[in-house]
Amino acid sequence: ASTWSAVPQGPPADKSDKKINLGVGAYRDDQGKPYVLPSVREAEQKVIDDKLNKEYAGITGVAEFPALAAKLAYGADSSVLDRVAITQSISGTGALRIGAAFLQRFFPGDKKIYIPTPSWANHKAVFSDSGLEVQQYRYYNKDTIGLDFEGMVGDIKAAPKGSIFLFHACAHNPTGVDPTPEQWKQISDVVKEQGHFAFFDMAYQGFASGDTDKDAFAVRHFVEQGHQIALCQSFAKNMWANSIFSCVPQGLYGERVGAFSLVCADAAEKKRVDSQLKILIRPLYSNPPIHGARIATEILSSPKLYKQWLGEVKGMADRIITMRALLKENLEKLGSKHDWSHITSQIGMFAYTGMTAEEMDKLAKEFSVYATKDGRISVAGITSDNVGRLAEAIYNVKG
Ligand code: PMP
Repeated sequence: ASTWSAVPQGPPADKSDKKINLGVGAYRDDQGKPYVLPSVREAEQKVIDDKLNKEYAGITGVAEFPALAAKLAYGADSSVLDRVAITQSISGTGALRIGAAFLQRFFPGDKKIYIPTPSWANHKAVFSDSGLEVQQYRYYNKDTIGLDFEGMVGDIKAAPKGSIFLFHACAHNPTGVDPTPEQWKQISDVVKEQGHFAFFDMAYQGFASGDTDKDAFAVRHFVEQGHQIALCQSFAKNMWANSIFSCVPQGLYGERVGAFSLVCADAAEKKRVDSQLKILIRPLYSNPPIHGARIATEILSSPKLYKQWLGEVKGMADRIITMRALLKENLEKLGSKHDWSHITSQIGMFAYTGMTAEEMDKLAKEFSVYATKDGRISVAGITSDNVGRLAEAIYNVKG
């Protein structure tokens, strides 16, 4: 017999033209099509027209890029910009990996990091592969389909003083549930009281509210309060939206642009930390790819393209926010007896519907609506055309 004769046939593809795919973690336009931001297209054309050579970048990347990334995250008028140690990274995942490796090597306390329950599936693997012990803190309350604020604060208080805490800066993945600015202020206070170290993962700046400043609230508030944070930035969602498909299983071409930074006490400390970041990165991958970072540099440094890009990011976020409202409205119109307010209070690309694995299964089998078993739907897959059908399907399954 052939070596593979016992390999079973996978399930047949659903050919229904009513199929709605809400499993994809990438932005889609209102026609359900991938979208390249026109500002990104224009910047890329400029990079190509400039006919720059393809020499290696330095270890920390394209020369002008890290400072521009820092400005975007911390704010152009931030007082810490001259003491932020920073490097370009291979998107958000690479930033997390560098950050974890740096903590593993230099963090003076326990090499242990607390991540929310639940968190992006890759966090645990990245941190434990980097030699950090991973623990969890309470975050999501499945009864309220919202934030377990008391649980979260309780766990932050209960952790040994000087622990490392990972926070999703905005648009928490997978739940879409974020603390309010008021809650962030309280979290910052408790983290400070406990002498903990805040490690921020900001994978969706601008993509949550449509405003890059608003989405950076937590990061900037912590910094203003004197926390010397670590920060991971990804440009995958807010700049590429479709060419960096890092979260999509098919894995298309991705430019992989990101940054990792540490707020230091002063310029001398920054210099020492910068030198160690280089020592750490050199044996990992020598130096990062240049094309995507050049595009990002073009956008972040051209007042015209920057303004255009901010508008386009807002356009994507607004479409998501509109689809959330439409879904809720349609469910209410159908007479659903459930409270769907979490659909609109959550933020970012994903919505945690609160539906069970069985209900999700029924959605797929009977209504050709596909998402993940944990009840998470990608709002980016909802369009003006399919939102009515989606609401009916959910109403039929859930009532
Ligand atoms: N952090 C979070 C919370 C994410 O959701 C993602 C991507 N899905 C990442 C980091 C990493 O993204 P990337 O490596 O594509 O920038």
